[in-house]
Amino acid sequence: MFDVVIVGAGAAGASAALFTAKAGKKTLVIDNDKSMTKRAWIENHYGVTEITGPELVEIGKKQARKFGAELVEETVTNISKIDGGFKVETDQHSYEAKHVLLATGALTDLAKKIGLTTKAGTEPRIKTILDVDAKGKTNIDGIWAAGTVAGVSVHTIITAGDGAKVAINIISELNGERYVDHDVLKS
Ligand SMILES: Cc1cc2nc3c(=O)[nH]c(=O)nc-3n(C[C@H](O)[C@H](O)[C@H](O)COP(=O)(O)OP(=O)(O)OC[C@H]3O[C@@H](n4cnc5c(N)ncnc54)[C@H](O)[C@@H]3O)c2cc1C
Repeated sequence: MFDVVIVGAGAAGASAALFTAKAGKKTLVIDNDKSMTKRAWIENHYGVTEITGPELVEIGKKQARKFGAELVEETVTNISKIDGGFKVETDQHSYEAKHVLLATGALTDLAKKIGLTTKAGTEPRIKTILDVDAKGKTNIDGIWAAGTVAGVSVHTIITAGDGAKVAINIISELNGERYVDHDVLKS
């Protein structure tokens, strides 16, 4: 069983995955390559002078893999409750996870199908979002959401930051205490 299955490898999902994997949590990222980020040319991401969307997405996946996350290119079709977690079904396989994080960008079809509560979006062109609390929890305990689908401002620095925030909350819940990931510069 995976500690965390993340649906979506855009800015929010890959950022979350690198945190959960780096924290030693068994992490699977499932993505079907429909990231809106791949259409962007980005000059407003702190610390990055300029970058193409496809490059940012590839670097994000590479960072997640570096820390041990597994990534597969599949479409998640259903998520259902099982003992101790969830069964995540795709068009090709079935996986089990203690926690599921939805980072599906502008897409809410899967969330609606599995009974997550939605509401009207506030950001330009984002019609529907998931109803999450400040930690990123949805109405189903153990299913979380981050990034555009969770209603944050549609900018890579913010969706990536939201993915990191929700990942830290999941790690903290798994560990039973607040988690912080600080590497220290060696002198
Ligand atoms: C044309 C354009 C230009 C932009 N320019 C900028 C800019 O200059 N600066 C800026 O900050 N932002 C820009 N953005 C916005 C930026 O791309 C988004 O804010 C942000 O990166 C979205 O990240 P996300 O992770 O929420 O969603 P996405 O990057 O869209 O990722 C969602 C992922 O979920 C996957 N997915 C969804 N459903 C499933 C499923 N059922 N199974 C498997 N996978 C699934 C998709 O394949 C996708 O890869 C631009 C966006 C567009 C469209």
